[in-house]
Amino acid sequence: MADLEKTRPPAPVPLEWEYAPAPESREIVHFQERYGLFVGGEQIEPRSGEWYSTIAPASEEHLAEIAQAREEDVDLAVQSARDAFENGWSRLPGSERAKYIFRIARILLERSREFAVAESLNSGKPIRESRDVDVPIAAAHFFYYAGWADKLEYAFPNRRPHPLGVAGQIIPWNFPLLMLAWKIAPALACGNTVVLKPSHTTPLTALLFTDVCRQAGLPPGVVNIITGDGRTGAAMVRHPGIDKIAFTGSTGVGKDIQRAIAGTGKRLTLELGGKAANIVFDDCALDQAVEGIINGIYFNQGEVCCAGSRLLVQESIYEQVIAKLKRRMSTLRVGDPLDKNTDVGAINSREQLDRITELVESGREEGAEIFQTECTLPDRGFWFAPTVFTNVAQSYRIAQEEIFGPVLSVLTFRTPEEAVEKANNTAYGLSAGVWTEKGSRILWMAERLRAGVVWGNTFNRFDPASPFGGYKESGFGREGGRHGLEAYLRFE
Ligand code: NDP
Repeated sequence: MADLEKTRPPAPVPLEWEYAPAPESREIVHFQERYGLFVGGEQIEPRSGEWYSTIAPASEEHLAEIAQAREEDVDLAVQSARDAFENGWSRLPGSERAKYIFRIARILLERSREFAVAESLNSGKPIRESRDVDVPIAAAHFFYYAGWADKLEYAFPNRRPHPLGVAGQIIPWNFPLLMLAWKIAPALACGNTVVLKPSHTTPLTALLFTDVCRQAGLPPGVVNIITGDGRTGAAMVRHPGIDKIAFTGSTGVGKDIQRAIAGTGKRLTLELGGKAANIVFDDCALDQAVEGIINGIYFNQGEVCCAGSRLLVQESIYEQVIAKLKRRMSTLRVGDPLDKNTDVGAINSREQLDRITELVESGREEGAEIFQTECTLPDRGFWFAPTVFTNVAQSYRIAQEEIFGPVLSVLTFRTPEEAVEKANNTAYGLSAGVWTEKGSRILWMAERLRAGVVWGNTFNRFDPASPFGGYKESGFGREGGRHGLEAYLRFE
């Protein structure tokens, strides 16, 4: 028998490998037809009487009707958070607060599939990412900060920490549940109460989260979720009853917020845009680096503030890196976010797609060379093919501005000093990556790169124990780790 098998000719290798569709079922998620505002532990109709439709960016299908909160609604939510803060939450022993936060973490994990499907539907990101990154790391943040709630005195010895009061939290559309977790977990651990506004394009996982709060028995008013567009966010920023604003989003809006609260005494943390350099030295493990470049820019369609959107390659390996990169790009599967084999999903909104298209056009006009993978994009929904620009000058808009899409700009360097100079030649300073076999070179680079996070031989790694935040126009304040607690405390 064994001899027979040896003589049998090997099966022909197929010329093309086609994946069968592997869609995740939508059945696990049940959206309400309409979602009111989550204030005082229950859903209420907006006083504004206004509603809007939230859609699936992959198909433009209507998913649910969402309340548009205005000044009066913001006022009710802040009042509810203030009552909850004064009537118990801030005086609860840390060990008791920890129990609620721990319960939230556990329920999120129990309902992880439902949250992953809802997130992919409403944001357009691939289920592989929402299932393996967004939801587990969101739960990990609640677990992590549950652990700190009764240890604040140890985290800041001899400084007598106290909660700030009501935190107003405004989050973007690229990581809706994860940003919610980054904001709510440390705020509650420190004894604050919360009014949170998700982006108007991605409200659904935040609204599902209100059910988790109810399931966990969280006292009414500790977490309030209000929906609406930028006007709702602006009303929160102006509200005198809010003690602290935590914002993640564009640098432009971040600057407006800073101006609006100047002189009010409100505390502020800003996590804004980025234009990270991913720096590849000629002694690196090349295939590993190419995976890191792909993950750095095409993860979440490049809609990531810390995306490695500027690739700096050492000149001696330039041709080799570009050839390997293009080959790897051509294997990326773009399409249905709910398909488990999808690598790149839908762009979050038509506005974002227009922004990406406009910047890519400017790259062509300024003289860069464009390469896009051949892929059939669906007829409906918002899509952009993975793109790389070579022959890029530092002055081009695609090398300076945040594109927030699956678009990579490649530059070269000869020496480590030149790499540092080019990497730092940006208004931003959120993250950077260094690929080299030399540990000492990673440390040398990390000391000189003006970026809040520097990854060595990896990219886009997130851990609740590790602080994250920016320099320059990428904002200030840190989220995550022990540093993330400080943003929600005052000290005697
Ligand atoms: P925004 O900064 O407008 O949105 C972030 C959040 O702020 C959303 O909840 C938004 O509401 C809200 N908001 C909008 N205007 C105001 C305001 N005047 N006062 C208070 N809150 C406000 O980002 P965009 O969605 O417009 O994206 C634009 C660009 O910003 C992207 O192309 C990207 O470059 C960058 N960006 C960076 C992010 C990051 O993680 N650092 C995240 C998102 C965007 P709503 O969305 O409902 O309008």
